[in-house]
Amino acid sequence: MATLAPGPSAFPEARGASADPAPNPDEAAYSVTTPLPVFYSCSKCPAYCCSYPQIPVTPKDERRLARGLGKSVEEVRRKVTKEGLEAGTRVMRHKDDHVFLTVCRFLDGEKRRCTIYEHRPDACREYPGTVRCGYYDFLLSERRRQENGELVLTAYETDVG
Ligand code: SF4
Ligand code: SF4
Repeated sequence: MATLAPGPSAFPEARGASADPAPNPDEAAYSVTTPLPVFYSCSKCPAYCCSYPQIPVTPKDERRLARGLGKSVEEVRRKVTKEGLEAGTRVMRHKDDHVFLTVCRFLDGEKRRCTIYEHRPDACREYPGTVRCGYYDFLLSERRRQENGELVLTAYETDVG
């Protein structure tokens, strides 16, 4: 178990909506383009989702990463991604981390932010895909239960490679 002061967002504007819910009920009711309110705050989270050991990467993601990082697709496959547990899949490589055991190699370990935000894989863009984030619910629930507003629990034992 580690403790960490809440830091800046790992995924700023990641889901196209403010992570701190402050919905205007009138706008929400009448505009189809108004983002749904969400009930998680990446700015208060140590980036649990970036500690997931099998962050999927598609061929399209690898091409985008190659363009964004100024590398060849072959280099991205050698240095940025690796074979996933499921045959034929690719996932992001990890690095050591002082909060979780390991995290995606592109997470800024101090600021808890993505350092390749414009080039991140689709899975990162889409997560969590609903108005709630399970990790964030878990974090808040444990902070309440243990009466420690800065508590961070490790959710995963992750791998390096
Ligand atoms: S785990 Fe949830 S709250 Fe935390 S950074 Fe990821 S999406 Fe945001
Ligand atoms: S690419 Fe960025 S958003 Fe995706 S897991 Fe890595 S650090 Fe997190």
